[in-house]
Amino acid sequence: MDKLLYFIAVLVIFSSCQNEQKTKSASTEKIPEEAKFSIVIHGGAGTIKKENISAEREADYRKKLEEAIKVGYTILKNGGSSLDAVEKTINVLEDSPLFNAGRGAVLTYEGINEHDASIMDGNSLNAGASAGTRIVKNPIGLAREVMDNSPHVMLSGRGAETFARKQGLKVVEPNYFFTDSKKKALERTQASEKNKTVSFYDSDIKDSKFGTVGCVALDKNGNLAAGTSTGGMTNKRWGRIGDSPIIGAGTYANNKTCAISSTGWGEFFIRGMVAYDISALMEYKGLSLKEAAKLVIHKKLPELGGDGGIIAVDSQGNMAMEFNTSGMFRATMSNKEKLYIGMFKD
Ligand code: ASP
Repeated sequence: MDKLLYFIAVLVIFSSCQNEQKTKSASTEKIPEEAKFSIVIHGGAGTIKKENISAEREADYRKKLEEAIKVGYTILKNGGSSLDAVEKTINVLEDSPLFNAGRGAVLTYEGINEHDASIMDGNSLNAGASAGTRIVKNPIGLAREVMDNSPHVMLSGRGAETFARKQGLKVVEPNYFFTDSKKKALERTQASEKNKTVSFYDSDIKDSKFGTVGCVALDKNGNLAAGTSTGGMTNKRWGRIGDSPIIGAGTYANNKTCAISSTGWGEFFIRGMVAYDISALMEYKGLSLKEAAKLVIHKKLPELGGDGGIIAVDSQGNMAMEFNTSGMFRATMSNKEKLYIGMFKD
């Protein structure tokens, strides 16, 4: 009997040791780090100076930038795709009359709105773009539709609108986009053009605020995406298309390197292939995102004569915002960093 009791006691002690061991190994087990995700937005670069903007107006911009970025941030936080985050975030900016995209787009020489947009998937290198549309409420949605549901990369003008209708996208009357402030901007630009007898590109346009919108994001699966949407430049004519719908100039995304959205004087962004150039400097020269973005925006672009800026995120979630103008509406958020909103040179 004594022997049996002794045996049971040994058994109990042994099994409690085993349990303790199990608990220890569970508590020291490596808890996987939270998957990285980042989002950056811009609302255009240009002459954006504290002294030129009222406190009330500044607050309006801050509020809208915050609302927009939080839409994308929430999608990413919940495990959604960077493409969805980019599209839905840009929708908010397109629906606001504050920016030069969707409602509030600048006016052409003829006083109408013509929208350009593009989106790119860094995982598949698939892309979609639309140019010169007049009735599609959310041009970024059309770009996405071109990417996802057509064999093409870029559609333009009335054909793009026919495709939008066919895909069931929302179309609106052209006056939906019209704002008084953009009418005044057109009048000012045309008057200065007349008075100074200067050409389209020497006019005040160069110095005015641009206002295009863009978004780049990295999702928890490590996929990058970029998108850009714009009304182009005030007083544009002859069916002018800027850089925003040009893959490699206004928008680029590649999981190997980074995602970029540009804003500024489009002709120079096209000639400099700005978005792709930043990615190529990373891929072929081994530059970091920050180094590549600085080189292109502060050296190569001004050497060509262009101005503007970019927002970017790399495959590690590092974010960059570079501009060579006096300001750029911008905001960032990530799994590690709280909301940042900027407008002027800090
Ligand atoms: N890049 C745009 C264009 O040239 C303008 C802007 O960024 O505001 O059409």
